[in-house]
Amino acid sequence: MVKVNENYLKFPGSYLFSTIAKKVKAYIEANPDKKVIRLGIGDVTMPLAPSIVDALHGAVEEMGNAETFHGYAPDLGYSFLRETIAKEDYIKRGCQIEADEIFVSDGAKSDCGNIQEIFDESCIIAVCDPVYPVYVDSNVMAGRTGTYDEVTGKWSKVVYMPCTAENGFVPELPKEAADLIYLCVPNNPTGTTLTRDQLKVWVDYANETGAVILYDAAYEAYIAEDNVPHSIYEIEGAKTCAIEFRSFSKNAGFTGVRLGFTVIPKELIRGGVALHALWARRHGTKFNGAPYIIQKAGEAVYSEAGKAQLKEQVAYYMRNARVIYDGLKEVGCEVYGGVNAPYIWLRVPEGMTSWEFFDLLLEEASVVGTPGSGFGPSGEGYFRLTAFGTYENTVEAMERLKKMPSLRK
Ligand code: PLP
Repeated sequence: MVKVNENYLKFPGSYLFSTIAKKVKAYIEANPDKKVIRLGIGDVTMPLAPSIVDALHGAVEEMGNAETFHGYAPDLGYSFLRETIAKEDYIKRGCQIEADEIFVSDGAKSDCGNIQEIFDESCIIAVCDPVYPVYVDSNVMAGRTGTYDEVTGKWSKVVYMPCTAENGFVPELPKEAADLIYLCVPNNPTGTTLTRDQLKVWVDYANETGAVILYDAAYEAYIAEDNVPHSIYEIEGAKTCAIEFRSFSKNAGFTGVRLGFTVIPKELIRGGVALHALWARRHGTKFNGAPYIIQKAGEAVYSEAGKAQLKEQVAYYMRNARVIYDGLKEVGCEVYGGVNAPYIWLRVPEGMTSWEFFDLLLEEASVVGTPGSGFGPSGEGYFRLTAFGTYENTVEAMERLKKMPSLRK
């Protein structure tokens, strides 16, 4: 009899977003006349920018022509895109990253989830708490996390680094030994960031201990403040200890188009082995290249017209973030994030759990958000709202919130 991968059976029964979907469905059925506004999930709402649509059309024409048709893409990405990324995202920021250190993929989720495959099963992972669930779940599947405790909401072999208002959402260096350290800056779900100085502490720690930092910069385009690094490679020493993940989903609306990339500097060596070589082997074996059409669209993201149009899109979402941030402040909420990220993280009213606040918001305002506890035990008592809705819906949601009897001071 075939044995299944029993690590999959270790997951707790309910998945955050499916529980939310069920609750929203039940609410809509009971209240068919109410207009529900969703500020819960992190998907974008604006259509693709014109310069990207043009590039897609152009690439489709090429694919329909024998002379310009493209079959399998190079496993690691077309050089036109890798070179553009190296120049625009790294060299221009003073980071010496070469085109062949960039691995093009179908998005950051796959890369963040798959990267753990090149490390030994015995490696201990450290994650911020709350955290983007993919980092932990992909390690659960690989059998690296021990067992799940329903009471504490923690896995026995995972090092949790609480990020709460009390420590300014800055994780402390782990007391336990950690091999793989996941950092997400700007952060999902808290919307907070680390400054260059704060990140330098981690780079120094990883270089001293031999740990590897897995740095998720999916929200890089939202950074507004000068002291927040756009890449971990802005920090001296990062090339010998860090892997960086980037996405085209949130800067260019590619959530349904699919494109991302991972950077592994050749100097990053562990156990005498270049991680670059391992990932090249893994990527080449299990991934057959992002589509030509999509990589051409990715290239257009860096064109002058593309950059200008996408700057406007980011500004549109960040105006929503401001509306949410200011609205919550107005009703006396404790609010974080929303300045360098499209996520707003608020403290729920005293005496309430994150899920109780979810129910209250849905019931009294027909607004959907995400309970902080769904991102980890230290997320309890917090709640995430996203700036990815339309401006009109965002304004309306905040007007409704301001009228909520239980929120008015
Ligand atoms: N990393 C973080 C922190 C995210 O929040 C998300 C999406 O919400 C992703 C990665 C996934 O990015 P992609 O759409 O490129 O797979």
